[in-house]
Amino acid sequence: MNIRKRLTLLFTLLVASILLLFTITIYYFYNQFREQEFYQRLAEKALTTARLRQDVGEVPNDDLPVLSDEQVTIYDDRNQIVFQETKDSPTFGVSPGFLRAVREKKQIRMRRGDTEAVGLVFTGKNGQRLVIVTSANDRYGFSKLQRLRDILFFGWLFSLFVVGVAGWFFASDAIRPVSEIIAQVNAISATNIHQRLRVGRQRDELADLARTFNAMLRRLEDAFINQKTFVSYASHELRTPLAVMLGQTNVALMQPRSGAEYVAALETVEDEVRRLIDLSNGLLDLARANADVATIHYQPVRTDELLWQARANLIQKYPDYTIDIDFDNLPDQEDDLILPAEEPLLRTAFQNLMENGCKYSADHQVRVLLAFTASQLQLTFTDEGVGISANDLIHIFEPFYRAERTKELQGHGIGLALTQRIIGLHNGQIQIESEPGRGTSVTVIFPARQSVPSLLAMKTEKFVHS
Ligand code: ADP
Repeated sequence: MNIRKRLTLLFTLLVASILLLFTITIYYFYNQFREQEFYQRLAEKALTTARLRQDVGEVPNDDLPVLSDEQVTIYDDRNQIVFQETKDSPTFGVSPGFLRAVREKKQIRMRRGDTEAVGLVFTGKNGQRLVIVTSANDRYGFSKLQRLRDILFFGWLFSLFVVGVAGWFFASDAIRPVSEIIAQVNAISATNIHQRLRVGRQRDELADLARTFNAMLRRLEDAFINQKTFVSYASHELRTPLAVMLGQTNVALMQPRSGAEYVAALETVEDEVRRLIDLSNGLLDLARANADVATIHYQPVRTDELLWQARANLIQKYPDYTIDIDFDNLPDQEDDLILPAEEPLLRTAFQNLMENGCKYSADHQVRVLLAFTASQLQLTFTDEGVGISANDLIHIFEPFYRAERTKELQGHGIGLALTQRIIGLHNGQIQIESEPGRGTSVTVIFPARQSVPSLLAMKTEKFVHS
């Protein structure tokens, strides 16, 4: 059932219940009033009859207002009938117990079918205590009650119809903005993701909903554009070494060459293949670091050991690099250097930062400082290289971004994007300070003494909410 139908139904049910309650109340109180009034008339009739009988000796029926099926019966104190108004109609039979109760309580009302009766005590002039039982059928009262019941019932049915129709229009009006939002959202696809929903001037929940949608669309658009640029940059990066290899092989195959020439061509091809492998490894790592956090296997890892491993890997690849690792304020317990980490990923991050420090400085030297405080582990990678300008610093973590001044050096621009993501996955933070021409300092901070389960719980929560 759609919201419009549900709203209409609820609205109709609510109003119908209120109206029904109101109708029943009117009917009930009107019936009470009729009963009260009729019993009063019965009592008056009883007293008038008794007084006439006492004063005049007889009761002239024609002079008194007659009620329908009326019967007045007077009983003496021995429960004998001393007067009966109409002998031919049957007496409203009462038990001795009823007569006794009337004598005790002075007046008692009773109803049998449609016939209502009142019994009351009348003390005659001679002090005789008589009980008068008057019964009649309130034909007019009941017929008025019946009429009222019909009016109320049909009135209630009619209002139900009116409320149903009004409810339908009311519900349509209330959900019109939702239908508009649905239509607008349906019209947005990958080709016009820049479009936004109309928020209008209202400040209600639906305007909030439209704003929330717009914010989501903005994020999606950003992600979409990033994805597009990522793919185009990645293909560009892949194309360059492939083009070089093709060029080299074409030139080598144009005519017969000497062995040395073939070796030179193959060496160039080998270099490019290495670049390609580096790039694909970087892209794979980036894809992995951007994948579901649940797929990452955190293990307790010693930070200092990871640094030494990263250094060893790098020096094996580039023997001319100098990487100094210093420690400051080391903790008393070695366990405090342990981080919950996915070892290969975190090692790649450290290696990237060391490599950048060496690659972008003339002396190919970087200094790594591992410092420990009670609440955090801090790693600083400092070099005295070319530095990064303020303009470049803003974009430095974007995939494939490379500063103009370092373009002649080999690289793909994905190292820092990958590193930032990896540090984030390990609940750390990364900051870069740099002065062009003087050097760069990259600081990575991890909260100390994190346990694997606590990190996992936090990551999963972040993942669910992101
Ligand atoms: P790559 O080094 O492969 O180009 P990165 O993502 O590691 O990719 O770095 C992106 C850019 O940031 C580099 O091209 C370089 O311009 C700049 N950069 C990074 N680290 C340093 C550094 N230590 N000194 C100077 N420039 C740096």
